[in-house]
Amino acid sequence: MTTRPSLVVFTRDLRVRDHPALSTAAASGPVVALFVFDPVALRGTHASPNRVGFLLDALEDLDSSLRRLGGELVVRHGDWVAEVTAVATAVGASGIHVSDDVSGYARGRLSRLADALAALPVELVRHPGVTVVDPGAVSPAGGGTFKVFTAYHRRWLAHPWRPVVATPTELSAVPDVATGELPTLDALVAGTPSPQRRVGGETAGTDQLRSWLAGGGLADYRDGQDDLAGDRTSHLAAHLHFGTLSPLEVASRLRDRPAADPFLRQLAWRDFFHQVLAARPDASRADYRDRGDQWVHDEDGFEAWRTGQTGYPMVDAGMRQLLAEGEMHNRARMVVASFLTKDLGIDWRLGAAHFMRWLVDGDVAVNQLNWQWVAGTGTDANPHRIFNPTTQGRRFDPAGEYLRRYLPELSPLASPDIHEPTIDQRRDLRYPRPIVDHHDAVAAHKARRASSTD
Ligand code: FAD
Repeated sequence: MTTRPSLVVFTRDLRVRDHPALSTAAASGPVVALFVFDPVALRGTHASPNRVGFLLDALEDLDSSLRRLGGELVVRHGDWVAEVTAVATAVGASGIHVSDDVSGYARGRLSRLADALAALPVELVRHPGVTVVDPGAVSPAGGGTFKVFTAYHRRWLAHPWRPVVATPTELSAVPDVATGELPTLDALVAGTPSPQRRVGGETAGTDQLRSWLAGGGLADYRDGQDDLAGDRTSHLAAHLHFGTLSPLEVASRLRDRPAADPFLRQLAWRDFFHQVLAARPDASRADYRDRGDQWVHDEDGFEAWRTGQTGYPMVDAGMRQLLAEGEMHNRARMVVASFLTKDLGIDWRLGAAHFMRWLVDGDVAVNQLNWQWVAGTGTDANPHRIFNPTTQGRRFDPAGEYLRRYLPELSPLASPDIHEPTIDQRRDLRYPRPIVDHHDAVAAHKARRASSTD
């Protein structure tokens, strides 16, 4: 009698290392590895050429890794549940192994899959793998979900982490399964990716982690994380989003190293937002805390923000970095998000959607909830977090190097002028005047919020 194979459905866990679903399936016999391109997951802001390009890199790399182990990646197109069920039936799978996830979409498709399998002799097994600590694994004493990061962080640090699982040494493949071809980027999404988009895949992720550590990035993180020009953060976000690196493996490797705490804290923020979204899937669209905001309709303002033409160098540099690279320094993300929601009074959802269109690390939980944190509608109690773009630039890019990198028209200016060019300099260098006065705009924001919360 032959052992029935197991189906491993890859989603955003595109690696072979520390992959509980893959390792469990491999331990029980032959494995069919599947990825499904579902048109629903490629719509709207998910139709991001940067992220889909990164995804294709990652799938190609995953296929190579699986082949080295004796397996291969099967690719299908269509409704995720229908395709998974069809492949499971065709190969006579005994079980389907998948990494659990938190978004409304991910949970919806897993629950539809469970329904579709109810009448079939196929077991659905959900595994960890997307976060360090599973959403729901730690909860406040009174039950429910943590709404305050500091309390969550304390429990996150104390909670025992699962061990890193061993990579399978060999996969016994299943004969006679048509593998299908990886599509091209153009076949999946319209639009052009950023010229300097990061390469995806477990190999690239592992190299990035190695070179960041070798360059002293971890030891330097506390001092370096806000250095805009030095760009000293890990650049692992896209790899963590697509699971081309295991968040748990990264955290476990670094945990006992000196000076790891501030970096681990950021991974805890990532987990925190995942458990918030798991509890409140509507927070991807709705205010987590409704402040009754009356958002301003300002197409010209939004266009100036989107294209990096607001006349505030710090905002414009961040927005142009996003278009050029599909990434933006965290300090700049906070400044540009504050500018959109506070100075321009524009709804955070429009900003979050623009970020999702371009960010290679765009992640529903982390993006939408960071936007809400800045907008003052999120888990955080502070409704008036306002970043002054000029003082932020002076403080975190004192020499103006970050500004010069993304705003070539301002490159003739030295610091401090570059942070606040004069009217004449703006005219000569063809750089716009500020589209709003920061102090007036902030006063208007406060007045709007006061009237909406009265
Ligand atoms: P590092 O500083 O090296 O941090 C290590 C890892 O910790 C990151 O890769 C990320 O996984 C996590 N992390 C860091 N900062 C945060 C944070 N504030 N919240 C949660 N996790 C964090 N990050 C995303 O991964 N995807 C997004 O879509 C996203 N959107 C954002 C939108 C706004 C408005 C803001 C203010 C922040 C957003 N961030 C997002 C968080 C942060 O800016 C990025 O994670 C970080 O800039 C990525 O660079 P890095 O990998 O070098 O980070």
